[in-house]
Amino acid sequence: MKTIGMLGGMSWESSAVYYQLINREASRRLGGTHSARCLLHSFDFGEIAPLQNAGEWDKADAMMVDAATGLERGGAGFVMMLCNTMHRASPGIEAALGVPFLHIADPLGTAIRSAGLTRVGLIGTVHTMQQDGIIKGRLRERHGIETIVPDGDDAGTINRVIYDELIRGIFSAESRAAYRAVMARLVARGAEGIVLGCTEIPLLVKPEDSTVPQFDTTTLHAMAAVDLALA
Ligand code: GLU
Repeated sequence: MKTIGMLGGMSWESSAVYYQLINREASRRLGGTHSARCLLHSFDFGEIAPLQNAGEWDKADAMMVDAATGLERGGAGFVMMLCNTMHRASPGIEAALGVPFLHIADPLGTAIRSAGLTRVGLIGTVHTMQQDGIIKGRLRERHGIETIVPDGDDAGTINRVIYDELIRGIFSAESRAAYRAVMARLVARGAEGIVLGCTEIPLLVKPEDSTVPQFDTTTLHAMAAVDLALA
């Protein structure tokens, strides 16, 4: 079994979910007392979010590259990042690593195509919804998938709930209803599925909250990590 190198803490709420999903699945597949071999670099998100807000992406990206190479030096057989937004640093990470980087958009793209879909709604942080270099470009170029993102106030609502509530462990019925309404508007605009493109969103939104299939980046990425660790 390969050791999984994890860049986490973005936020720890979703890293905890990843840790549980990966270990449960490794234990299920291997049986007995087995669990996953992991190395976790857990950032203090209070040091990352201000850099994102200030647009100081070079500094945040450099922190990701530095931590990823640290995981490799520590013995990771591959590296993954437990967050969508900071995947914007993935070109630098992939260039710096001698071991594979398991990009979150790849198991996502495979799952969307396996479901026979090519046009999906994407909800996540404002960065993930706007920037092409996080997951949108990779879904389009490597998987042939088009994304539609919320417009106007809807984009602001999705983003605000992530930073003010979900990463702080606050999950309210009111925000869940707001997300349900935004997803319905994406479906009305032609989305055949919805990408939960922020690793905390599955803590709030459940499959019954949309009329189309949801693609949960946390679970898809965690399962792909177990596949790769045990390959
Ligand atoms: N976990 C989030 C994501 O998947 C947001 C946290 C962040 O901005 O890094 O994008």
